Amino acid sequence: MAAPQPRPGVLQVKPYIGGESQLPGITRVIKLASNESALGPSPHAIEAARADAEVMHRYPDGDAIELRKALGAHHGLDPAQIVCGAGSDEILHLICQGYCSPGDEVLYTKHGFAIYPVAAQASGATPVAAPEVNLTASVDNLLAAVTPKTKIVFLANPNNPTGTYISADELKRLRAGLPEHVLFVIDSAYAEFVGANDYSAGVELVNAGENTMMTRTFSKIYAMGGMRLGWAYCPPNVADVLNRVRGPFNVTSAALAAGKAALEDKAFVALAREHNDYWRPWLADELAKIGITTTPSVANFVLARFPEAAGRDAKSADAFLRKNGIIVRAMGGYHLPDCLRITIGTGEELRLLVKALTEFQKGNGAIQ
Ligand code: PMP
Repeated sequence: MAAPQPRPGVLQVKPYIGGESQLPGITRVIKLASNESALGPSPHAIEAARADAEVMHRYPDGDAIELRKALGAHHGLDPAQIVCGAGSDEILHLICQGYCSPGDEVLYTKHGFAIYPVAAQASGATPVAAPEVNLTASVDNLLAAVTPKTKIVFLANPNNPTGTYISADELKRLRAGLPEHVLFVIDSAYAEFVGANDYSAGVELVNAGENTMMTRTFSKIYAMGGMRLGWAYCPPNVADVLNRVRGPFNVTSAALAAGKAALEDKAFVALAREHNDYWRPWLADELAKIGITTTPSVANFVLARFPEAAGRDAKSADAFLRKNGIIVRAMGGYHLPDCLRITIGTGEELRLLVKALTEFQKGNGAIQ
């Protein structure tokens, strides 16, 4: 008997592999592998989630009205153009589900966020990667890769795992060069960490027409990765499509409550930003001192490059760090086998990481 067959493309999906949290035999693990916040969530968000536990027998507000209103007020956006999701990952999937058919192409950058090809293939579309220049998205290369089949362009800005970004002018040039029917998705998951004054999360491009949208997350600066909460700001036509394809209760009531509380705790977000502003350059400088170069990241992680020499390469460094209880992210899946991505953890965690890498660079065995 013939077994049920999934839609074309599904079996080509390489499942996304998240950062690990445990190391056998090691009690204190330092996890710098998933770009989580060093400070943890706002105490107000924790309290809101706790209070929500008492009423978990009730379904959540499927329209996320209070949270969308709060997001609208916070960012100066029309709540009717905001759609919430179980993490921005869900929204990336919904976009492909809503817009792609088999044969369509979904364009992204060579070292772009790993969910883009997964979401494309899950919807039967073909992922197409445009080359980057200096580990940075190239508008020219993206435009050159557009074909009549291109349906969606995904751009993480800043990008994970490279940490690099393109300016507001470049974003605008990319949009202007894309055919009007192509949906341009600006994934601004790390926007809150960016200090550069030529940066834009993309709101003005969303407002300019019917074919650009921005996605955001509560997993990074708001430190709520485990809650699964993200959102999109879209033109009304795109919001309508996402609202049709999403599940009616796709966001839990705990996530809605915690998200609103986290958004309102501006002092806590400012602390997280200050922490990152101090420790990211500190880490880049300390790594440079021991001969490890990093990309000019504007997010809450750095991408560190190791030479390809045997015993000195990224794989050996990763193994050495693990022996010392530190988990960072190997980058083979991102076509960057000579790199490791390191999240900005607490000051203590980063000092221990630098100490371990200093030993590694000297060629010493595991530190105690
Ligand atoms: N976009 C980018 C660029 C990311 O790095 C991540 C998280 N790793 C996401 C989207 C998805 O985040 P979440 O689903 O937790 O909102």
